Amino acid sequence: MTDDASPDTREETEGGTDGLTAALPGLDLGDEEAAGRYQVLARKYRPSGFSDLVGQEAMVRTLTNAFASGRLAHAFVLTGVRGVGKTTTARIIARALNCVGPDGTGGPTIEPCGVCENCRAIAEDRHVDVLEMDAASRTGVDDIRELIEGVRYRPVSARYKVYIIDEVHMLSRNAFNALLKTLEEPPEHVKFIFATTEIRKVPITVLSRCQRFDLRRIGAENLSADFARIAATEGAAISDRAIRLIARAADGSHRDGLSILDQVITTGAACDGEISEDQVRDMLGLADRTRGFDLLEAVFAGDAVRALDILEDDYRNGADPMQVLQDLLEITHWLTRIKLVPAAAEAAGVPEAESERGSDLAGRLGMGALARAWQMLLKGVKEAQGAPSVVQAVEMILIRLAYVSELPTPEEALKTLDGGGSPRGSSAPPAPAASAPRPGGAPVGAVAAEPVAAPPPEAVSDARPHPTSLAEVIALAETRGEPVLKVQLINNVRLVHFEPGRIEFSLEDGAPQEIVGNLARFLRAETGERWMVSLSNQSGEQTAAQKADAETAEEKAVIAETPLVKSILETFPGATIETVRRLGPETAEQPDDDGPAGGNEGEPPE
Ligand SMILES: [Zn+2]
Repeated sequence: MTDDASPDTREETEGGTDGLTAALPGLDLGDEEAAGRYQVLARKYRPSGFSDLVGQEAMVRTLTNAFASGRLAHAFVLTGVRGVGKTTTARIIARALNCVGPDGTGGPTIEPCGVCENCRAIAEDRHVDVLEMDAASRTGVDDIRELIEGVRYRPVSARYKVYIIDEVHMLSRNAFNALLKTLEEPPEHVKFIFATTEIRKVPITVLSRCQRFDLRRIGAENLSADFARIAATEGAAISDRAIRLIARAADGSHRDGLSILDQVITTGAACDGEISEDQVRDMLGLADRTRGFDLLEAVFAGDAVRALDILEDDYRNGADPMQVLQDLLEITHWLTRIKLVPAAAEAAGVPEAESERGSDLAGRLGMGALARAWQMLLKGVKEAQGAPSVVQAVEMILIRLAYVSELPTPEEALKTLDGGGSPRGSSAPPAPAASAPRPGGAPVGAVAAEPVAAPPPEAVSDARPHPTSLAEVIALAETRGEPVLKVQLINNVRLVHFEPGRIEFSLEDGAPQEIVGNLARFLRAETGERWMVSLSNQSGEQTAAQKADAETAEEKAVIAETPLVKSILETFPGATIETVRRLGPETAEQPDDDGPAGGNEGEPPE
């Protein structure tokens, strides 16, 4: 029961864990009031009736209907992100339930009078029958037992005993079970109001006994309008754009927004004239959005030096590097949206200069580049959070972004590879098809520098093939439509000796002996020559399949060392080479007999 705790203490607890309040040093919700006449806006403008709730029309409508029909549940659950007004709503409901009207004869009403003793006592958090508990700090079954103990006693002065349990999802399982017993058979004079940010953590057994109300995240428009009204009431001159910035920074939370507004007004009181957007930005430690654009533009242009200059500048001016990263993330998201829906550039609250710049940038950047930047920034945020020096981490992320901007996107890279070309001179991964396969020969990567272009048409001669290796024989089997033979050769044949006209090999255990005869017939038919095909009692080399496996592993290692792939792997920590795609369809289509090209490395995997 928190009726012994002062409301200010609670306010502080609610805001204390939040980054926003933490980012506003000097803003202490409790002290100011204690210090003097100034009353914190969040308390001063705490809504006292449903009509004061900003942006919660849907919930208010449902609640109004419930009161009008007299069908009030024994328990309510209010859910929504922090700061949208759950506990405030809970207190208004408590009032609505207990209001007796100015003349003391009224019943439950959606419009509590605010003047009767019940209304006033609840507003001042001193009503003996309205009990609040913060489940975040009191999660145990004993806490709940203690609370529920009083359920069987009638209210002292109110119509209903109201139990408000904040952050109800934090209760332990035993605590929920204890609560459930009461919820199953609640006395007539008791109402429960639960508030939670995480409704999914509340057991369904509890939820099923509650009337649920969802509080919406409050839109920036609604917040702006409300803050403008409050600023006017307070006699503070704040520019529209500054108000919009506050609303945006509040991120859906009325309370957070009021806290910022508080500070803005206090700070602004010292200076003359209207409080500008820039002043608020400074106050909040928000990096200038235009700086965000500058930074992003530098990064996308691959200009790491300029990007670092901008960052250093901002940093020296007091910008939080983490916030810089968040801004980049936000802008990237926005640019991506503009790419999909160009109208997004003119979204509410976006200054004209910004929307123009956004459209321009979005037009110049590809979806792939934006998606990649988003991914890298997201990963960067996590990295920076765990880094000993945030600014250093952010620098590294910018360098990485700038560096990678010169690389083709994955799609572009694939296209380039498929086209057989190389985006950066010899930096393309080696195309294995170009290698000269000799049994036990050099790894494919060693000959990567050779051009991979398909042989010119005239290279294909009419002459019959003269395979000079088992690999070429396998390729021949493939192109001449002998898939069974091909597979048998790949999987079962362990080569002992190969020379044109003579092949000696052993077979894998259990392989069909007929391979010998089939191969001899095939070679005779294809080359027009007699081939000596025989089994050897030596064990021979690995099969082509085994070699390919080993080579794939080796290739991955080699590919990983090529500049392009190496930079990709460094840029995306945790990335791995999953498959090595064999390129070079020419091997399959044109088994040339006058060159070493083609072979088992050229076998496209099935
Ligand atoms: Zn009243």
